Amino acid sequence: MQKSGKKVAVVTGGAGFVGSHLCERLLTDGFRVVCIDNFYTGKQEHIAHVLSNPDFESIEADVEYPVSLDGDVDYIYHLACPASPVAYQRDPVKTVRTNVLGMINMLEFARTKGARILQASTSEIYGDPLEHPQTENYRGHVNTLGPRACYDEGKRCAETLCMDYHRQYGVDVKIVRIFNTYGPRMAPNDGRVVSNFIVSALTGEDIVVYGDGTQTRSFQYIDDLINGLTSMMQKEDFVGPVNLGNPGEFTMNELAHRVLSLTGSKSKIVFRPLPEDDPKKRQPDISLAKEKLGWKPTIGLDDGLVKTIAYFKKTLEVR
Ligand code: NAD
Ligand code: UDP
Repeated sequence: MQKSGKKVAVVTGGAGFVGSHLCERLLTDGFRVVCIDNFYTGKQEHIAHVLSNPDFESIEADVEYPVSLDGDVDYIYHLACPASPVAYQRDPVKTVRTNVLGMINMLEFARTKGARILQASTSEIYGDPLEHPQTENYRGHVNTLGPRACYDEGKRCAETLCMDYHRQYGVDVKIVRIFNTYGPRMAPNDGRVVSNFIVSALTGEDIVVYGDGTQTRSFQYIDDLINGLTSMMQKEDFVGPVNLGNPGEFTMNELAHRVLSLTGSKSKIVFRPLPEDDPKKRQPDISLAKEKLGWKPTIGLDDGLVKTIAYFKKTLEVR
């Protein structure tokens, strides 16, 4: 614990979409927060409003290299990794290095500090799933050779490292598997479907659906995820993995029509080829999160989209 009496939480990837919301929440909850980020996809502006908070510190560093910090650390939320397919495929070797070397460095850091560490894993570890919905027992269906493997296999290896550090060195680890999450502070050029569709709708560009648009995803609003992450961190005697996602499942065609209707946009929907290894469906089974954490999402797709559209309207200065 810090001299101030506040517990210290380190958030890697704290300047990113999820990380910046998490930093804010942890400050509100009375933690001292240290954000570690290399600003690969994160932005200074995401944390600008908390920089003057004496309980907040921002360190520009790459988790690919060992991390050091004076003083005690209680909790580490390890989020550093680009999450959008466009971003993680830009430099796939770097993505593997971030996932694997970054995980080792942060586990070593946790071990040195005696801190609890939570790994932000992903539904991508299930690949193009052959079981539906996905429970934590499903072992996945990932192409080790494809363009998504740098992320999927990197995250799978990171989970392995968590369990090995836990068994071998007694590190206090937690693994959450996050399903598609959206909300304010997604980058307009992030490449993920919700931000792409909203930005296109607001700017009158074509909404581009990959494939025939019948593939499904289950979209979770950011606030629900943050509640799940903080609940998991505080839960004793539960390593996980645990799915955190909203079971509401939608096709990309349904999503496109909802965005058009909620924005009142006249954008056209057009179709382009489906990227390689794009999963055909995805839906979390969240029974375990309900049982162990008493957690379930509370914000439905339309409500979450309305909030996200409002954010992009402001960001893009669209009237
Ligand atoms: P994001 O790209 O907005 O944020 C990632 C952050 O990590 C950025 O600030 C980036 O600059 C930083 N980063 C990347 N590589 C780094 C490195 N080597 N060293 C230090 N910092 C680095 O993505 P996000 O949506 O906020 O995702 C956060 C985490 O949650 C990621 O680990 C992602 O895999 C996981 N996740 C997110 C989703 C989702 O739908 N948003 C779904 C599943 C898992
Ligand atoms: N997608 C789309 N148009 C876009 C961006 C994505 O149709 O402009 C599709 C993509 O092919 C995938 C789904 O939307 O089937 C979700 O894509 P995203 O990149 O958001 O997440 P992930 O594929 O990692 O779940």
